Amino acid sequence: MLICFMPSADYYKTLGIPKNASEDDIKKAYRKMARKYHPDLNPGNKEAESKFKEITEAHEVLSDQVKRRNYDTFGDPNGPGAQSQCGFDFSGFGDFFNFDQRPSRKGHPTPKRGEDIQRTVHISFRDAFQGVKLPIQVHRTETCKICQGIGETPGAEKQNCPTCNGTGYLHNGLSFFKSRQVCPNCGGIGRKAPPCSECQGRGRNPIHDTVTIAIPAGIEDNAKLRVASKGEAGQRGGGPGDLFLFIRVDKDAVFERKGSNLYIKRPISFSEAALGAKLEVPTPESQTTIRIPPGTQSSSKLRIKNQGMPIPKSNQRGDLFVEIQVVTPNIQDERSKELLRELAEINDHDLISNERRKP
Ligand SMILES: [Zn+2]
Ligand SMILES: [Zn+2]
Repeated sequence: MLICFMPSADYYKTLGIPKNASEDDIKKAYRKMARKYHPDLNPGNKEAESKFKEITEAHEVLSDQVKRRNYDTFGDPNGPGAQSQCGFDFSGFGDFFNFDQRPSRKGHPTPKRGEDIQRTVHISFRDAFQGVKLPIQVHRTETCKICQGIGETPGAEKQNCPTCNGTGYLHNGLSFFKSRQVCPNCGGIGRKAPPCSECQGRGRNPIHDTVTIAIPAGIEDNAKLRVASKGEAGQRGGGPGDLFLFIRVDKDAVFERKGSNLYIKRPISFSEAALGAKLEVPTPESQTTIRIPPGTQSSSKLRIKNQGMPIPKSNQRGDLFVEIQVVTPNIQDERSKELLRELAEINDHDLISNERRKP
């Protein structure tokens, strides 16, 4: 875990011990300071972190007989002329210390928050457009009403917890740091009454719940909604988890959606495109009539303002875009062909050469 030595550091001073300190003195000094400066106990404190690195480095050197001799003799734990390598890695400390398990006050078990529940909910395009209230079936747990989540028979006499022999902790004999863990059976109390018969000691019971969720109008595909406190019940007095809903909005047959804007494609005839026309187009609620201006090109998009999806948390809406597709006539009869040729003679040469001259 330590791969960096800074030969200039005074390791004895760092640990606050004399040069003739015994191995035991070194251990004790390090242990004391490590408990004070460990990053887990000082989250976000850069000073403590660098202090912790220094004392760990000092301990790493002074607790190793060869490195300590090299350091005392040459001022470098790797011996004379050794190359320093740098880098520091906190991994491995988790096994060494067990700081996550804070001791509980005697008689107060460690509360544990309930787990979150995640569900995927599919809704139609129409429901996404209008917003919808949906009842969602959730299998979850709730705090046992008989024992109030304690998991013990109310009023029964307490006995020593068999898992931890009444100490409240489980001890892992790793290295010289005693690592201890709050007993999962009694939550650190050490004594326990017989388990509650309603919840079999779990402190919570499975329920079949119906949670009604309000999906706001305009919700996007892949949106995530949180319903507070509708997850699993907490344990030993911990609060409940949350219910997270991933919303999947089905695709619509008519409208293509991009954010709050909607897109549709509409074919028009060659003469409508050339002369202009009125066109009926669907909107999410009903339909509307738009004017196609004369000379409209294929693929051009006409915008109808405020006819897109509602924008959540506002009273605005996106726009509806109508993409025009000009259908080229498939002429069979001679009369039409003649007319088109005549039209071409009057117009097309200039028209096309104008288009081709565009950059
Ligand atoms: Zn119970
Ligand atoms: Zn126990």
